[in-house]
Amino acid sequence: MAGREAGGGAVSEYKGKTPGSARLFARSAGLHVNGVSHNIRFFEPYPFVVRSAAGKSLTDVDGNRFTDYWMGHWSMVLGHAPGSVRAAVGRQLSRGWMHGTVSEPAIMLSEEIQRAVPAAEKIRYTASGTEATMYASRLARGATGRGTVAKVEGGWHGYASDLLRSVNWPFSAPEDGGMARGRGRGAGGVVSIPYNDLEGSLEVLGRAGGDLAGVIMEPVLGGGGCIPATAEYARGVQEFARKSGALLILDEIVTGFRFRYGCLYPTIGLEPDIVTLGKIVGGGLPIGVICGADEVMGRADASRMPRGQRSYIGGGTFSANPASMAAGRETLSRLKRGAGRTYPRIDRLGRTARRELARIFDGRVATTGAGSLFMTHFVREGQDAEITNASQAARCDTELLRRYHFKMIAEDGIFLLPGKLGAVSAAHGDADIRRMVDASADFAQDGKL
Ligand code: PMP
Repeated sequence: MAGREAGGGAVSEYKGKTPGSARLFARSAGLHVNGVSHNIRFFEPYPFVVRSAAGKSLTDVDGNRFTDYWMGHWSMVLGHAPGSVRAAVGRQLSRGWMHGTVSEPAIMLSEEIQRAVPAAEKIRYTASGTEATMYASRLARGATGRGTVAKVEGGWHGYASDLLRSVNWPFSAPEDGGMARGRGRGAGGVVSIPYNDLEGSLEVLGRAGGDLAGVIMEPVLGGGGCIPATAEYARGVQEFARKSGALLILDEIVTGFRFRYGCLYPTIGLEPDIVTLGKIVGGGLPIGVICGADEVMGRADASRMPRGQRSYIGGGTFSANPASMAAGRETLSRLKRGAGRTYPRIDRLGRTARRELARIFDGRVATTGAGSLFMTHFVREGQDAEITNASQAARCDTELLRRYHFKMIAEDGIFLLPGKLGAVSAAHGDADIRRMVDASADFAQDGKL
């Protein structure tokens, strides 16, 4: 097939441009599992090794420059290394960066989060999003005295041992050999519900009955295909949770401060009990946030709750580290100051990307996303071109998507992590989107499809 040959050509071109990365990655592969420290960072034949990042660009060790749409796991909404955030982190570094006690930057970041996210009556920081969602499900179990947490099929909430289920098609097979005991549906206290299918979800939730502690979901399914939840679906799930005495945990680790200054939940009529944040609120330094109603968060208060009734949600040694707090605070303050311009602008660029990619692929792809997030799915013959859940996304030609993204990396210097969604940042402009669309058109027209 023409596509395979084109793929081969792109591989030789990539290898020709990245000898330094090849040498370094061989060393990395000897040291790290699969050469990386996060599974999704690996792609064939080897990922390029980055030396520096600035604005919209990554520069690798061979001097190749890539226009970046991966943007640090979508966390760098202002672009890489923005000057004022660099300065804020620098000021903090000069005062020490690991105090292991209460610090002023954490208080200032929390005041800012609380103003923008009314559900955050109380806040705890962790060093990653994985910890935040892990604690959220623990807190839901602790607060309700129940055992089952429901998650959405295709939902990615990090590597925590209970929520690492039902992530990949067909959603019922174990994701991992080392998980909390039990296999199949309901294993490890987790059941999965079909996304954007209210009837199907209510059926599963109904079966959990009085044991349902909480439902965790993203307002835009990220890793599962960049698919917004319909307001009707999200509200229907919330209503069920309310009626049955279970908590609604909204995972806004990707969506928080991505579409507006604050979270997405008020715009779809949700009132979550617990919200998890990460990525953008740490300005690109390690962070996770678990926040929510005082009554629920209070379950973790060691000064109030007796042992046995208390939920432990300690963030660990590096929680609320002053460097992350300073980076987060400056990022939020930049976003706040420029909110009236930044969000409409990156949303418009994202919208153009979705529209133009759909146009040039002429029915071969469905584009999903919202605001500044975009993703292309190569629909197979006879497949419905509308993608509303992770099953439909998984049925698309994911191999072709990877080849398309790799061609862009190798031939055009445009970086979308192969197979994943892209994010526009404040450092991108119309010309970048045009260039990405032109490079995609080349893939669509050149017999490569
Ligand atoms: N929840 C969501 C929705 C995420 O996208 C991610 C990370 N991509 C996580 C949780 C986990 O966050 P982290 O990688 O910081 O552990």
